[in-house]
Amino acid sequence: MSATDHTHVRPWRHIERRKSRQIRVGNVLVGGDAPISVQSMTNTLTSDSEATLAQIRALEAAGADIVRVSCPDVDSTRALKTIVQQSNVPIVADIHFHYKRAIEAAEAGAACLRINPGNIGSPDRVREVVQAAKDHGCSMRIGVNAGSLEKDLMEKYGEPCPEAMVESALFHANILRDHDFHEFKISVKASDVFLTVAAYTALADAIDCPLHIGVTEAGPLRVGTIKSAIGLGNLLWAGIGDTIRVSLAADPVEEIKVGYDLLKSLGLRHRGVNIIACPSCARQGFNVIETVATLEERLAHITKPMSLSIIGCVVNGPGEALYTDVGFTGGGAGAGMIYMGGKPHHKQDNAGMIDHIVELVEAHAEKL
Ligand code: SF4
Repeated sequence: MSATDHTHVRPWRHIERRKSRQIRVGNVLVGGDAPISVQSMTNTLTSDSEATLAQIRALEAAGADIVRVSCPDVDSTRALKTIVQQSNVPIVADIHFHYKRAIEAAEAGAACLRINPGNIGSPDRVREVVQAAKDHGCSMRIGVNAGSLEKDLMEKYGEPCPEAMVESALFHANILRDHDFHEFKISVKASDVFLTVAAYTALADAIDCPLHIGVTEAGPLRVGTIKSAIGLGNLLWAGIGDTIRVSLAADPVEEIKVGYDLLKSLGLRHRGVNIIACPSCARQGFNVIETVATLEERLAHITKPMSLSIIGCVVNGPGEALYTDVGFTGGGAGAGMIYMGGKPHHKQDNAGMIDHIVELVEAHAEKL
């Protein structure tokens, strides 16, 4: 982190993370003091390994730490072997009910199985799945969803509520513990942000395993991002959450971008250029909105954490530049001021400013 970064630690900016047990999802540590990982899910046919791998590559390039793929049939678990071999990130196999798919996925090299042991069926089947996970070094995720709670819990509680979701999660967790299996994380997702936050908050008190957090079926890009920012933002701010998935009805790459932006906003993780920009107004010395959109695109390849301020005029420009690695503040007569490390550095014509700023940011990232 640079000394001028907005994320500079202050007591009122510090989030105390809940102390969870640490597990492994392939080579990614989840829980404990491991960085909060960002994950997404492919929406291609898993049986089409080429299309699935292309999407995984795009997710990897956006910074995904973990990727989940659905395994609804035997063609998918067959393709999973190739997918796992050619992916650089650990792959989670999403299984519902079919214990054989879970065993096949473990054998194919999945790093983690998303499965609810209480839904697998007979105790023998559960034992077989847990054994396959143990044999192949797989962890598991218990995924409780408000929309698919067990019938008995719906009868007991009448509707999806935090108590029912926690009870369901603990029911599945106890099955794994009874089989002496402890490499698991849990999610208790709902599409309602209040229910999501209340369920995770109660679960965080009830168990020490790492938590995979998300607002499920959050919706399209804008609304889904806002719901996720409220739900996940509340949880993360309270120190809850070891790995996140933003669920959007949009390109999965957007889920990774939003996930990082969320973590960046809370100073929990840093990746790439954090652009600080004003909304612009009649005082702007250049077209702020167009410039920021172009810079965002041209600087997407930078992975090192750094900050850049692009401010329309001197009202807020110098103040914002003070805390960023590189800054540009609009001025009069078609030129503005470049700031480096918070200090005014040199004048720059608006005409060549984008190329120049890209060069400065790239050079600064090289040095980090
Ligand atoms: S910094 Fe200047 S240009 Fe930007 S919104 Fe404020 S007054 Fe307007």
